[in-house]
Amino acid sequence: AGMWEGGDATQARAAALEACLRLGLDDEDLNRVVNRIPELVAATSGAFDRDAGVQKPYDALLVDVNRGLVELTNNYEAVVRRLEVLLREKEELTERLASANDQLERLARTDALTGLANKRALEEALMRDISRADRDKTNLGVVVCDIDFFKSVNDRFGHQTGDVVLERVAQILSSNLRTGDLAARYGGEEFVLILPGSNTFGAKLAAERIRKVIEKTPMMGPQGPFEVTMSFGTASVCGPGCAGTAKQLVERADAALYAAKRGGRNRVVMETELAAAEGLWFHVDGAFGALARVPESLRPLVRGMERAVSLAFDLH
Ligand code: GH3
Ligand code: MG
Ligand code: MG
Repeated sequence: AGMWEGGDATQARAAALEACLRLGLDDEDLNRVVNRIPELVAATSGAFDRDAGVQKPYDALLVDVNRGLVELTNNYEAVVRRLEVLLREKEELTERLASANDQLERLARTDALTGLANKRALEEALMRDISRADRDKTNLGVVVCDIDFFKSVNDRFGHQTGDVVLERVAQILSSNLRTGDLAARYGGEEFVLILPGSNTFGAKLAAERIRKVIEKTPMMGPQGPFEVTMSFGTASVCGPGCAGTAKQLVERADAALYAAKRGGRNRVVMETELAAAEGLWFHVDGAFGALARVPESLRPLVRGMERAVSLAFDLH
């Protein structure tokens, strides 16, 4: 009876066998008894008016149990394999997510058209480089530059050509910088260069070199090549305390750029030249204001004055 009362089947069988031996029955006898059980169960339940259903022989039950066990083992292995696949997929997804995040980070700091750093990346780099210059007592040069008469490039050749010019100028800027320098698109056709280690003269030299390359590089338009020029303003910080904020530094270089524009464009002006340049312009501007109102016949004289002023700025 122990065999049908649950628990471990092998143990139950061993216990039954031991009981049989005590009764003088052997292994064979036990098998015979066990094999008769279905028949006895059916007969006994019949005597109590109960239907015990189909009673499988013990061997058939064993086969069923074994089949069940094999099925269970197979299912278990399939579940383990599926789990392994899911785990690998999860790892792959995690990696892809990490690289997508990296890419997003990069995109958030990159200008889509030119591939240069954007304004946000520029501001971060400026803050970092200003505090480094402050800490290490080194110079930091900043150049703000702007394509001259860019609106007329768009007007004459179309916006698409304008975009190609922006890309080309961006290439020239980044390929003419040293390692550690940064070129960023600040807005429309305006760019900012950060030159760690450069004072305003060093920044002027770099800007001058780039100015000449841009001047000499033919741009491709729908009707053939054409030229563009660029104006530059430079400012710098050196050592502790004279850094100011990133915004102030860019504003100072921007003021120098403004002087370069007013001085005739296609030139570099350092912030240290600003007072003199603006003073000169003040006089010239006043003179132009008066001359602009002179009759048509005197216009060549005005243009001559313009050229003279440009030259004065060049020599400055
Ligand atoms: P200045 O010499 O004084 O700088 O004159 P400018 O014509 O270059 O300056 P202005 O500010 O009058 O015009 C800038 C033009 O740049 C106007 C705008 O349509 C154009 N621009 C700004 N962003 C883009 C751009 O992404 N692509 C193109 N094609 N044009 C742009
Ligand atoms: Mg411009
Ligand atoms: Mg501009």
